[in-house]
Amino acid sequence: MVVVMAADATDEDVARVVAKVEEAGGQAFVSQGVLRTIIGLVGDIDGFHSLNLRAMPGVAAVHRISDPYKLVSRQHHPERSTVWVGRSGAQVPIGPRTFTLIAGPCAVESPEQTLEAATMAKAAGATLLRGGAFKPRTSPYAFQGLGARGLEILAAVGEATGLPIVTEVADARDVSAVAEQADMLQVGARNMANYGLLQAVGECGKPVLLKRAMTATVEEWLMAAEYVAQRGNLDIVLCERGIRTFEPTTRNTLDISAVPVVQAASHLPVITDPSHSSGRKDLVVPLARASIAVGADGLIVDVHPDPEVALCDGPQALDRSELRALAQAVRQLPPLVGRRPASASSPH
Ligand code: PEP
Ligand code: MN
Repeated sequence: MVVVMAADATDEDVARVVAKVEEAGGQAFVSQGVLRTIIGLVGDIDGFHSLNLRAMPGVAAVHRISDPYKLVSRQHHPERSTVWVGRSGAQVPIGPRTFTLIAGPCAVESPEQTLEAATMAKAAGATLLRGGAFKPRTSPYAFQGLGARGLEILAAVGEATGLPIVTEVADARDVSAVAEQADMLQVGARNMANYGLLQAVGECGKPVLLKRAMTATVEEWLMAAEYVAQRGNLDIVLCERGIRTFEPTTRNTLDISAVPVVQAASHLPVITDPSHSSGRKDLVVPLARASIAVGADGLIVDVHPDPEVALCDGPQALDRSELRALAQAVRQLPPLVGRRPASASSPH
């Protein structure tokens, strides 16, 4: 941490800052320039925050040098992590050497629709099944999901197809019920900063898929992951799902730069969601290709046997014929960037 003194700061101002830091058990190194004095602090950086140095006379600015997140940072964990999803013996990796396709319906609507979507997803190369039972929608009048019944349907379809399941949990009170059935718990964009929910999934014992909020910076997103990690759960996969910009042709703008930016800052795997970011089926495959090329560790994609009658997000769902191009991209492109398609195996 560096304290920058104002141009008109006095020697007493500098001495007061040094004394306060030393009283708190830290060390302060004063460097006097021609115009400015800066003070380098060494010690308990988080503790220094409570000293409120910025409010002291003569202090112009206080800058943090180290990452504010620790457990998810690559500074102390240089090797990139692999997160394994599924039951023992048949777990699917999400990490730096593989490419993982998660696909399925946006929402679980019925046993038939879910099974058909899962079969399509599997045929396209998906090794994890997505499906929403609890759907936090922008409008309270929109379909909110089948809830507990949806979860049962998804679990049965996961069992029938052999695909581990990924599903959203939107309320801390539902975490243990969802964790009983799901292989991976998704925290959606709208809940990225729901700290009680993040702490609850941090204690659930299952891997977590943490979506980026549409208005969150990379740092805010990684701080949200830190909440999960702090509760003992480091099995976190980050999902870039588009951010809100001025551009109205897509629902959100897929921040493709965020993939390598986050991979440099954090050891956690990063996937993208070309369906929810664009809101348009015609953009899903181009954005999927771009995601593979930029180094994403996987994709999560909406599929539906009949998108025209989908209860949720039909315009972005791929049908059987549209899935062919996605299947081809997921089969052909990862090997060009040194990855193999992820399949179920045992962690090693
Ligand atoms: C979803 O994946 O079903 C979803 C609602 O996504 P997001 O939270 O990114 O909007
Ligand atoms: Mn959706």
